Amino acid sequence: MITNNQKAAKVDVKETKGEIILDEIKCRGCNTCMLACSFHHASVFSRELSSIKVSLDYITGKVSWMISSNCDLCKGKKEFLCIKHCPYDCLSFKPF
Ligand code: SF4
Ligand code: SF4
Repeated sequence: MITNNQKAAKVDVKETKGEIILDEIKCRGCNTCMLACSFHHASVFSRELSSIKVSLDYITGKVSWMISSNCDLCKGKKEFLCIKHCPYDCLSFKPF
């Protein structure tokens, strides 16, 4: 069940369908998920190359985020790297 402070982004990659869920209260805008994602795609740390984009407004506390269509759910990896490396444990995956 998704609580009020959690938002979901649908992902649909071949046989894997579900939602990546972000807990907006826990998120600190640290960008680690973005760097982990770019490392998956391009073996470099680059926010620009990430499929997940997370931005925290430090004044309002509002988190904006999205997952682009080039998310391949970490094809070839055993785990979703954005979820695995979030230091605040605020990302999760819920299969459909
Ligand atoms: S790694 Fe976690 S805390 Fe950091 S920006 Fe991403 S979702 Fe937010
Ligand atoms: S599941 Fe993998 S490819 Fe998709 S946003 Fe997360 S790190 Fe990037």
